Amino acid sequence: MGVKSSPWVGWAMRIIEMMGGAGGLALWVLTYPLLALLIRLNSKNSFVLAIPTHDMRQFFLRLIHGNGQLGMRGQHRHDAVHADSDRQPGEPVNFPGKIVEPTPAKVRNFLTIDVECWFHAYNIGDKIPRSTWHLQETQILKNMDRLLLLLQAHNTKATFFVLGWVADHFPEVVRMIDAEGHEIATHGYHHELVTRMTPQEFEADLLQSLEAINRHTSQEVLGHRASNFTVVKDTLWALEILAKNGIRYDSSIFPIGRKRYGIEGYSQRHPHTLRMPDGRPLIELPMSTTRLLGSNKLLPVAGGGYFRLYPYHLTAAFIENENRNGLPAMVYLHPWELDSEQSRYYLGASKTFQHYVNLESTEWKLDRLLERFSFGSVKEGLPGVRNLIRDNVVPLSQLYESPEVAQSNADYLRKMSGKGSSTKSVLEEAELRSLVG
Ligand SMILES: [Zn+2]
Repeated sequence: MGVKSSPWVGWAMRIIEMMGGAGGLALWVLTYPLLALLIRLNSKNSFVLAIPTHDMRQFFLRLIHGNGQLGMRGQHRHDAVHADSDRQPGEPVNFPGKIVEPTPAKVRNFLTIDVECWFHAYNIGDKIPRSTWHLQETQILKNMDRLLLLLQAHNTKATFFVLGWVADHFPEVVRMIDAEGHEIATHGYHHELVTRMTPQEFEADLLQSLEAINRHTSQEVLGHRASNFTVVKDTLWALEILAKNGIRYDSSIFPIGRKRYGIEGYSQRHPHTLRMPDGRPLIELPMSTTRLLGSNKLLPVAGGGYFRLYPYHLTAAFIENENRNGLPAMVYLHPWELDSEQSRYYLGASKTFQHYVNLESTEWKLDRLLERFSFGSVKEGLPGVRNLIRDNVVPLSQLYESPEVAQSNADYLRKMSGKGSSTKSVLEEAELRSLVG
């Protein structure tokens, strides 16, 4: 009997295909049980334990007993329904064993898109010099179309951190985002790492991006995200430059230590306010992280490569857990991550893996998350976190004063000193209202 003729082989192939090919299957097998276990065991909230198993349990029960009735039929079900005496007219009937969908907590998560072309990505930077960007083929219009249609289907708004270069070379991208009613923010102009810029260069790049974006939208740009999250210990001065130029919120800090980005030991994992030395407030929306079992190590979750790498259920479990604690998740993606057909470069084993892993999963994962959770733009989400940003105020001077702070900040701070500083520790209500609407 030929192997190819067996229907089992056909089924097995179909399952592997559904999981994103052999690579996807291997990833599931390797990462899912481990990561799910780590996060589940570490969570104080036992509900998370139920999340990855919830869908499976539901699937099998429905398979065996029919749609959600768990085999309770006839008199048993009748009795159970009538025993549910607290039920108000019109409320769903509760009876023992009824499968109840987890009710998503009423927290609006942040959905953010960093609008750049594939060749802007740091991993590819060495291959495609800036001087040849305009010669590269890009599918940004097609990818943006797909993304905007998906958001439209879910009636969801997002914040688009647009690269100034994209606004100048593809102004229709800015107009498309605007026309759909999404929020437009800035991702800088050249996608240069903040860690490679002087404060003067950073400010010039920021202003150039704002000019480019403002040519194509009448929206006031309130937010900023640094290229590759490079607001780090050495570049905290960037936050002052943002506040000085009228930016109200930043979403660039990863509260983890990585070679290229992140601030190890950063005290805040959720929305908070940074108080500039001159008294100006800047809201900071850190990238989502979760704690690893038995350690203080934080694991990035819910965005970019991590979004593609982790199984859907892991990201969903994380968001569910955050929302149950009244906290929003910060999801971020790039338009090129929806394009699994893009030409691929060999970037070295590790970078190639990070950059291209599970590209074909981005769209369906996002689709499922949008179905299950509440998402919105930063502007829409800020009122929901007003207590967090009012109560968690970190003076930037405190970060500068940390013993690990690098000389570049100290030098910059010296230049800035004498420009007045605030002793206020908590944002005033009126000031906060102007920020969160
Ligand atoms: Zn970027």
